[in-house]
Amino acid sequence: MSIMQKLSSIAEQTSGLINESGSPIGSRIERVYSATEGDIGGSKKILVGTNNYLGLTFDKECIAAGHEAACQYGTGTTGSRMANGSYAEHLALESDLAEFYGVEHCIVFSTGYVANLGMICSLVGPENTIFLDEHCHASIYDGCKLSGATIIHFRHNNAADLDKRLRRLGDNSANALIITEGLYSMLGDKAALREIVEVKNKYDALLMLDEAHSLGVLGATGRGLAEELGVEDDIDFITGTFSKSLAGLGGFCVSRHSQLEAVRFSSRPYVFTASPSPATIGSVRAALRVMQARPELQKKLWDNATFLYHGLKAMGFELGPEIGPVIAVDAGEKENALFMWQALFDQGVYVNVVFPPATPNSSCLLRCSVSAAHSREQMQAVLDAFTQFKQLQSVTAAQA
Ligand code: PMP
Repeated sequence: MSIMQKLSSIAEQTSGLINESGSPIGSRIERVYSATEGDIGGSKKILVGTNNYLGLTFDKECIAAGHEAACQYGTGTTGSRMANGSYAEHLALESDLAEFYGVEHCIVFSTGYVANLGMICSLVGPENTIFLDEHCHASIYDGCKLSGATIIHFRHNNAADLDKRLRRLGDNSANALIITEGLYSMLGDKAALREIVEVKNKYDALLMLDEAHSLGVLGATGRGLAEELGVEDDIDFITGTFSKSLAGLGGFCVSRHSQLEAVRFSSRPYVFTASPSPATIGSVRAALRVMQARPELQKKLWDNATFLYHGLKAMGFELGPEIGPVIAVDAGEKENALFMWQALFDQGVYVNVVFPPATPNSSCLLRCSVSAAHSREQMQAVLDAFTQFKQLQSVTAAQA
């Protein structure tokens, strides 16, 4: 098949998924009114597909800080930090994050995807073995591929399986890198981190943890699952993103190991891409301050997540295994998932629809992401929309 034939075939398979007036994939969002409302498909929708966990995208302090940084440093950096230099704001954000995590070292990357790519391909190479949880995000998989290391998947959240596979490595286990996430992005469940840390220590391997979805969401001060479980000293490298709780764009890695600094020289995804814009860095620094100053946001987020999870469960929907700000509703086959998405959309609720292979099993998912900024009325409206879907489904089934 030629290159153009391949693209035509993809276009054929996906036709009808992307259009101008409200589509499930790549939806055109005309306006955003607040952290929880936007105009999609010609009318106001409740946004339940954003990863805007703390609802800070419209926070006045964050907007003002972004604005001020743009005025002071301009709209873009127009180059990479190694080639063109770091702005004082990049370095200040790295200090802020290192202080927040109580470690010495931090590197800011251009996105969370780039942080994972840049860290993994810099830490390991063809002489190493990576053990990664099978539910890990695409950015982790891509980093593993780029590194050239031997890749071994272990069963999701199964420390015994990890142990078995590491044991097989024999003396080389100290040369291994284990990778997991804190809160998994698709089903919203937490890593079995304590058990994984035990295995890591047993074999003297290194552990990298992606807290993309758990920063601001878990832990007494919002540092994530490692903080919640009291195992921060056992994690070698924590990566994360600014695009969720911190309502910006960019990624980072923090570590207590001084060797992290060497990554700036050895990581192609750090060296060969432009650094985040000043406005982005300014707003993220403000979001980090706001997050720490307002712990009630985390509480509100969990109240909303608990309300929605219990409500959907009571209606009989099959959900991810744990309550959390990512609530994944099993939507079955593609046709049913699209029908469900459309029914919710018509009721004024915008969620994400995810198809295999992006889902952990062969089922499609409706992925709801809850925000601290959602009101109880909005959460109730989401439940009402799911009720409407159920009614529509039974009418359609009766007509069939
Ligand atoms: N890690 C995980 C677990 C993610 O879910 C994502 C994005 N959804 C990323 C990394 C990438 O983050 P970013 O959007 O900042 O590139």
